Amino acid sequence: MSGTWLGMPAFPRNAEAALGNSRLRANLRKATHTIRARRAAGVDEMPGWAKLRARGAAVKDAALRDLDKHLLRAEEAVTTAGGRVHWAADAAEANTIVTELVKATGHREVVKVKSMATQEIGLNEALAAEGITAYETDLAELIVQLGDDLPSHILVPAIHRGRAEIREIFRDRMAAWGRPAPDGLGDDPRALAEAARLHLRERFLASKVAVSGANFLVAETGTLVVLESEGNGRMCLTLPETLISVVGIEKIVPTWQDLAVFLELLPRSSTGERMNPYTSMWTGAAEGQEFHLVLLDNGRTGVLADEIGRQALRCIRCSACLNVCPVYERAGGHAYGSVYPGPIGAILTPQLRGTATPLDASLPYASSLCGACYDVCPVAIDIPEVLVHLRARVPHPPAERAGLAAAGWLLDRPGRLRAAQRLAGRLRGLVPRRRLPGPGAAWTDTRDVPPVPAESFRDWWRRTGGEDR
Ligand code: SF4
Repeated sequence: MSGTWLGMPAFPRNAEAALGNSRLRANLRKATHTIRARRAAGVDEMPGWAKLRARGAAVKDAALRDLDKHLLRAEEAVTTAGGRVHWAADAAEANTIVTELVKATGHREVVKVKSMATQEIGLNEALAAEGITAYETDLAELIVQLGDDLPSHILVPAIHRGRAEIREIFRDRMAAWGRPAPDGLGDDPRALAEAARLHLRERFLASKVAVSGANFLVAETGTLVVLESEGNGRMCLTLPETLISVVGIEKIVPTWQDLAVFLELLPRSSTGERMNPYTSMWTGAAEGQEFHLVLLDNGRTGVLADEIGRQALRCIRCSACLNVCPVYERAGGHAYGSVYPGPIGAILTPQLRGTATPLDASLPYASSLCGACYDVCPVAIDIPEVLVHLRARVPHPPAERAGLAAAGWLLDRPGRLRAAQRLAGRLRGLVPRRRLPGPGAAWTDTRDVPPVPAESFRDWWRRTGGEDR
């Protein structure tokens, strides 16, 4: 796949193409089932999970309610600690800020810690347009970058790739980005990890500028927090002379006590681990290092204004909802056409980007509304509720609107409904049993049309002595 989401068709077309790829489905099934089983075990052994989950949701809601105050408090704390804070209203402004900051260092390379926010704004592409190369250092992101691919999962961006594919990517592409893959590289996971480690180590030691995101920003001290499991984040955050962190404004938590709740919720929900392997925290600029914090809006204040949709901003990007979603498991992440795939993507992307394109308008329908995503979400985001809410917002085809208007007219008066039921009973022989014509055809592709009864329930009730109303 080419490395861009631009111009992708609507979700059903993307999903249909993915469904034909049996290897992709096998990779997805194996990976999501493994992670979901680990999560279930990690959550089951934790007493008081439901209370912790409710606390997580409450903390996020409170933080979002007073977002302006918390952000100003964080800005003051970061500035006091020697950092500089920049405010970016949208992707273009954030990209310009980061590009200018990198240019000012005189360097043409940056190392990156895995960051959804920078992918959301297309930072790598913006830097490339100015002659600056961004090197991804998370193993899965490295695989995606070397393969000129796109991420398909929040936590495991290369979840759609098997071991043999990764070996081929390393063999063919590593040399173009730095240290080549070792001769005779096999597809054993340890050998692949070692090849990546050697390749990346050279990059860490050479790079003077790093770009990161953050999982959390603690308002009371202006402390940024990154959770990761490979140690690449720690290398990026500590070695370079200049560190630039691009952070969505919803990542704020008011206090350290609030942060503690998420340090328990996140690892168990994402990987099933009791504790995260590497948790890096920093406040302002370290000695000998320049630090810039770019606070990113890019549609978030618009989401905040929507009473139902705003709960999507609670998301801590654990990816638990992806791993239990029957639609994601079959369609894969690329079908969602966004850096945010799966159930959270289906509610976040149309709110951040709007619903003007066929792809974005189709996302609220990329769900069976089974509710599994809500059950596992550590911050209790009612994803089905937001999906239904967004479905009412997207443009509907004229035939659907006309059909629903006719149904409204019919159901508005009992007399009309009774007359329509009697007419349908008389004409039931004319109703096709297998496939409806026109707009109903897609619905009956996989379903039989229910038979129309000769007599309605209301007529039967009256005929058999029930009270008429
Ligand atoms: S919506 Fe909930 S389950 Fe899904 S990634 Fe966000 S926090 Fe995790």
